[in-house]
Amino acid sequence: MTADLARPALPLRPELAGLEPYGAPQLDVPVLLNVNENPYAPSDAVVEDVARAVADATRTLNRYPDRDFAALRQDLADYLAVESGVRVAPEQVWAANGSNEIMLHVLQAFGGPGRTALSFSPTYSMYPEYARDTSTAWIEGRREEDFSLDPDAARAAIAQHAPSVVLLASPNNPTGTALPTDTVLAVLDAAARVPGGCVVVVDEAYGEFRRRGTPSALELLDGHPHLAVSRTMSKAFGLAGARVGYLTASTAFVDALRVVRLPYHLSAVTQAVARAALRHAPELMAQVGSLRDERDALVGWLRERGLRVADSDANFVLFGTFDDRRAVWQGLLDRGVLIREVGPQGWLRVSVGTPQETAAFKDALTQVVGLAATGNEEDR
Ligand code: PMP
Repeated sequence: MTADLARPALPLRPELAGLEPYGAPQLDVPVLLNVNENPYAPSDAVVEDVARAVADATRTLNRYPDRDFAALRQDLADYLAVESGVRVAPEQVWAANGSNEIMLHVLQAFGGPGRTALSFSPTYSMYPEYARDTSTAWIEGRREEDFSLDPDAARAAIAQHAPSVVLLASPNNPTGTALPTDTVLAVLDAAARVPGGCVVVVDEAYGEFRRRGTPSALELLDGHPHLAVSRTMSKAFGLAGARVGYLTASTAFVDALRVVRLPYHLSAVTQAVARAALRHAPELMAQVGSLRDERDALVGWLRERGLRVADSDANFVLFGTFDDRRAVWQGLLDRGVLIREVGPQGWLRVSVGTPQETAAFKDALTQVVGLAATGNEEDR
């Protein structure tokens, strides 16, 4: 075949051929409950503080920002100490443009050609994409029927596949399921036995929404240098548009991520926004409490109507099951409520909104599925 010089072939990596970019539909409807955002926009006090911080940062935008963002790492360490009771050094904290980029750094440092990453589905659908983009082989283990992770099955999968990276979302997306400490310890133990080493990332993007008594893997950092816990400001902080994710781990782990990051990956503006928002953590955390209550009430409401609902420690709820979930999703959309068609066949996921948004969702669902309360519980 002769080359057509007017239309040169693009040397696309074969594994990317024909693929579409990942992303939930961004539709303009009144009630958006599809991507697990925080429904509360920043308060006027946050807006003012952030605006002032951005103005200050703008004065020196002719200069590159602090490559190692020492002040932000200190602020994040201080926040984690208050949120979880676990105190880490700033050198144990890393940040990037969303926890998506954090995971990419992890795969760039510890994955790569000839290496394997392992997770347990159903789980966050971006994980296989991080693996693909870093030419890391991807193995999908299975969660149980109730979306828990069986520690023995996890041990066996790690021993069998000898991955260099294990990704565990807890609370998991799209199921909302958090992992008990014993399960994470079993995974850490199995990972420590992998010849050549294996790191374990517990993705706690929804960590702040966990129910009382649900542990954070931050408590396991001590003594486990191959563990990292990632968090984000996209959810609890209501700052999805700012793109700030972060991770905490041993200093050796973080130092490996520093090697693969692009220089100045976190702009001065991003650093300023994140630091200003962190100053308002107590106010923002109060909202998290009301979202948790709203979530628990929604789980109860759906169960009272005879639906299956996964236990949730997150700001969303997976419910079902429907023979034709697409029709239910479309029926809600026709009534101005956008949720997410994701997860195992028959299930749908709805994010926890404001009380008004939740009411709109309940009304729409009642109309679409013809729900009736099965018990005599009060209609919440
Ligand atoms: N991890 C999980 C489990 C998520 O659900 C999400 C967002 N949907 C992310 C990571 C990425 O969040 P961000 O990049 O906004 O920090």
